[in-house]
Amino acid sequence: MRVVLADLKGTEGLVTKDTVAGGYGSRFVPFSLTTHWFCHVKRSYVQIPSVQMAYLAAICARNGHEVVWTRNEVADGDVALVLSSLVDYRRETAWAEAARARGMRVGFVGLACSKLPELFLEHADFVVAGEPEEAIRELAEGRKLSGLVLGKPVADLDTLPFPRWDLVGNWSDRLQQISLGSLHPRRRFPLLASRSCPEFCTYCPHRILTEYRVRSVENVVEELSALTARWPNAFVIFRDPLFTKDRRRCLTLCSEIVRAGLRIEFECETRLDHLDAELLFAMRRAGLRIISFGVESISSQTLRKVARRPVPEAHQRHIVAECRRLGIRTAAFYVFGFLEDDWESIAATINYAIDLGSTSAQFKILTPYPGTPLWKQLGPVVYEKDWQRFDGFTPTFRHPKLEPDELRFLLGAAYARFYLRPSFLKNLWRIRHRALVGLVDKLDQRVSEAIREKEISLVSRAVTC
Ligand code: SF4
Repeated sequence: MRVVLADLKGTEGLVTKDTVAGGYGSRFVPFSLTTHWFCHVKRSYVQIPSVQMAYLAAICARNGHEVVWTRNEVADGDVALVLSSLVDYRRETAWAEAARARGMRVGFVGLACSKLPELFLEHADFVVAGEPEEAIRELAEGRKLSGLVLGKPVADLDTLPFPRWDLVGNWSDRLQQISLGSLHPRRRFPLLASRSCPEFCTYCPHRILTEYRVRSVENVVEELSALTARWPNAFVIFRDPLFTKDRRRCLTLCSEIVRAGLRIEFECETRLDHLDAELLFAMRRAGLRIISFGVESISSQTLRKVARRPVPEAHQRHIVAECRRLGIRTAAFYVFGFLEDDWESIAATINYAIDLGSTSAQFKILTPYPGTPLWKQLGPVVYEKDWQRFDGFTPTFRHPKLEPDELRFLLGAAYARFYLRPSFLKNLWRIRHRALVGLVDKLDQRVSEAIREKEISLVSRAVTC
């Protein structure tokens, strides 16, 4: 059987799928000079092939099937598996229709088709709701899938074959890439050492498909060894939502990476309260170069309302400083538009983002994703009818204190304030020379005043109009 794996490239704005927003994906359509620049820089960085599809490639190939991968064209085959998303579902369903017109059976996999199968069912022969590996294994073994198929969660993640990166990705993905922060090009590979998240944040789509499970350290190290044997100097992106959940396991993984002599560099995402100086040191020694974490809001009260355990500010500052000392870049995530938010609270969060001094920051707008507790809570005030606009950057529900334009304005202000500061480049390039640092601080003040004047003129123009 010839299996076509379609991991379709999103159009319009910066589109990311696969494990982003749990699999719903995100789309950032730039609306200012800074956001244009941000999307442009990020685009080259986020275009990595799907780890979910690489697993399916491995399962199909293991059963003797030919695997073809596509980002655009409708390739010929017997069965096509399409990675579903919310932000790009119209393009995905149109692609499925075109594939069916050429005689292929088409199935959808992923979070979006699991939670909103009605968007995909009429355009497909089957839709896998849940983790897809077991269902696709049955397909590869000869079972005909039809309609809505329940994807049983993989009980033991160690039983999965390793993702087949030789079958997934095109020539441009395979080009080694240089990022803004590093002049050493490395090919980047996503890796899942665990799945889902044991926390309870009500707005989070990462935890709504399956239960939290982890792979054994041995199994992860084996995958890393196989990866580096084929691609020396691989840059690994651990896509686990909470990479350091189990401190002891993380320390063991790091020491095993070092013991096996694996020359990887990696990035991961976690909560700051799961980090301390000793753990960071061990992770740095094993190859950690970038760490991402959610701060979300400066207000502990706001966070508690969405069942997110706040991390004390002093600890956040300590960990960011420790990362800086160890040469680990930091990326902090923030969310605007919690129900308690107003102009002052969001302005305070923006100021905090700058003051915290992470290397980079991502600001998003609170989105009630289907299947989350927040979706149930906000259902009655959701006005957006177009699912593609549940993209993480577009207001979708009636906020009690802020109009959609105000949220967008604050989002634009956050990107401008964070990224136009000369000290952003200082942090990125780790400039520590005292005279330069002093100069950058002065320039920061001037830039900040210029931005403030521009913001005032924009707001007063809006009021006058
Ligand atoms: S910590 Fe909260 S926001 Fe982060 S992945 Fe877990 S549930 Fe989601």
